[in-house]
Amino acid sequence: MLSSGPRSEAATLTNPRRMSAQIISGRVIGEHIRAELRERIAALKAEGVTPGLATVLVGANPASQMYVGMKNKAAQEMGLHSRQINLAPDIDEAELLGMVAGLNADPGIHGILVQLPLPGHVDEGLVLETIHPSKDVDGFHPMNVGRLATDSGDFFAPCTPAGVVEMLLRSGHDPAGKHVVVVGRSNLVGRPLASLLLRKGRGGDATVTVCHSRTEDLGAVTRAADILVVAMGRPESITADMVRPGAVVIDVGTHRVDDPHAEKGYRVCGDVLFDEVKDVAGAITPSPGGVGPMTITMLLANTVTSAERALEGRRN
Ligand code: NAP
Repeated sequence: MLSSGPRSEAATLTNPRRMSAQIISGRVIGEHIRAELRERIAALKAEGVTPGLATVLVGANPASQMYVGMKNKAAQEMGLHSRQINLAPDIDEAELLGMVAGLNADPGIHGILVQLPLPGHVDEGLVLETIHPSKDVDGFHPMNVGRLATDSGDFFAPCTPAGVVEMLLRSGHDPAGKHVVVVGRSNLVGRPLASLLLRKGRGGDATVTVCHSRTEDLGAVTRAADILVVAMGRPESITADMVRPGAVVIDVGTHRVDDPHAEKGYRVCGDVLFDEVKDVAGAITPSPGGVGPMTITMLLANTVTSAERALEGRRN
């Protein structure tokens, strides 16, 4: 299990800049976690186990290709065994399910990731349910979702919300006892994050409010937050007047918006109006450079955990 550092360590995990808020850097914290993972990977290798991650990409969606490429590169850099399986966009559903079943049975593969979205003719839910829960390092299998929601047994949490919790802990903002407001209720981010924060113990014990598009007077709710996590998919929608002075703000959003003044004609931003909110918040994540780099790190962490569980299972 990854450990949270003491408050003094948190100072070294942030990039202090000349502005009021502490900047919580996902790059710095992610690198810290990867250093811990390297030790765990070395221990596994000493036992003859190399954690293995298989990624399955159907079709040639450029964004999906980029994400899968980044995941494999990160796995290789960490010394993991990584296998990238590229399939034709018109692959038969049964063939895809057979491929997943083969990976389930492969003892050299500890994590299976099927890149979403899948083409329309494939039943996405069925594919995700076919991945064995013990290798479901994306945390989307109903067994993992249910175990997280009921806080019972071993499970894998989805990587982005797990990354948010690690960022809070490692920057000295333990959510225990705090009022955390989550904006967004998607199955990818908002909902599993609320479940993680509600768990008993490390990274949990928060008082959680979840907002969505039908929430009335969003600003009144977000202003009540000690910790505000925004995953609404709307560029720069959280403004300074929606944040309580001194609150911790975690911005999950990531967008490319047109910007004629930028060299490339666009810039990347989050769901939070960073330039404004940084002057009100006590701590804030940038976007890019915040939650984004944590997501792949948590995928690696889940894969290493899966390999450790498999080794433990062999011993018992
Ligand atoms: P999503 O599936 O579109 O969900 C957005 C959520 O925000 C929904 O629950 C929606 O409410 C809510 N919402 C939308 N407009 C709102 C408003 N005006 N007021 C209050 N709530 C509102 O998005 P997602 O997949 O969770 O992703 C959210 C953001 O995080 C996106 O920008 C995405 O790109 C980013 N993201 C980043 C990473 C990463 O690794 N950095 C990973 C995943 C996602 P309803 O449910 O009522 O529609």
